[in-house]
Amino acid sequence: MEVRLVDHMGSDLSVVNAARVSFAKESEWDIIPEAGPVKSLLQERDEKLIKYLAKHNHWSPFGHASMQFHIKAPVFVARQLVKHQVGLVWNEVSRRYVDDEVEFYEPEEWRLAAENKKQGSSDETTPYDVSATHMHAKSTYTAMLKAGIAPEMARMVLPQSMMTEWYWSGTLYAFARVCNLRCKPDAQVETQMVADQIDKLAVDLFPYSWEALRDV
Ligand SMILES: Cc1cc2nc3c(=O)[nH]c(=O)nc-3n(C[C@H](O)[C@H](O)[C@H](O)COP(=O)(O)OP(=O)(O)OC[C@H]3O[C@@H](n4cnc5c(N)ncnc54)[C@H](O)[C@@H]3O)c2cc1C
Repeated sequence: MEVRLVDHMGSDLSVVNAARVSFAKESEWDIIPEAGPVKSLLQERDEKLIKYLAKHNHWSPFGHASMQFHIKAPVFVARQLVKHQVGLVWNEVSRRYVDDEVEFYEPEEWRLAAENKKQGSSDETTPYDVSATHMHAKSTYTAMLKAGIAPEMARMVLPQSMMTEWYWSGTLYAFARVCNLRCKPDAQVETQMVADQIDKLAVDLFPYSWEALRDV
């Protein structure tokens, strides 16, 4: 599972100035260390403004900063994350056009079922070898392609553990909503792993805004 930051736009100061334009005002960084604007310090009143905006759901200033990720994760994780739609754009590899080697997500330890179904799984684990299942799926898929079957149909035999990849771009506000929902213990652990990586990358880029938007 892999989350790579491809690009980003804006900074905490972009958020501040998008709000300050209402009064035809503009702020500057307080201190700009050599590391550049990403790690710069906001003036105290701008820090307070960001907190105020987040607290009172003035979301639009947070829409002027954005991030783009390239993510590799199993289909069942992508299936959950793609539900987050507003303020986000998603483009994924298509197995209609691609029939390359299939990769599978194969945990060594499997979480046991939880007594409370809403919890998803318990902390207890057991080893379970699924390599034969994956090998069988892969060999059936390859045999179907060899028989001339179109990749868009042959893919039907591939399991949800298959790895997929996508570009995911969106505003700071939208990704904060993703992390607020998916970095929590009630989210599926494998989905949390992706959200946690986004969380770590975002806090470095937008430390003031991210802290204000995250409900931790
Ligand atoms: C722990 C967990 C379990 C889940 N279980 C399931 C499940 O079993 N089945 C399932 O289908 N989904 C499930 N979901 C997905 C969930 O229902 C949401 O679709 C997902 O979390 C995306 O939420 P979002 O607020 O980021 O949505 P977005 O679609 O990105 O929307 C963002 C915000 O815009 C507003 N909005 C969006 N669309 C509308 C609209 N049509 N009308 C009014 N306001 C709108 C809402 O305020 C929303 O919060 C689960 C999510 C979590 C975190």
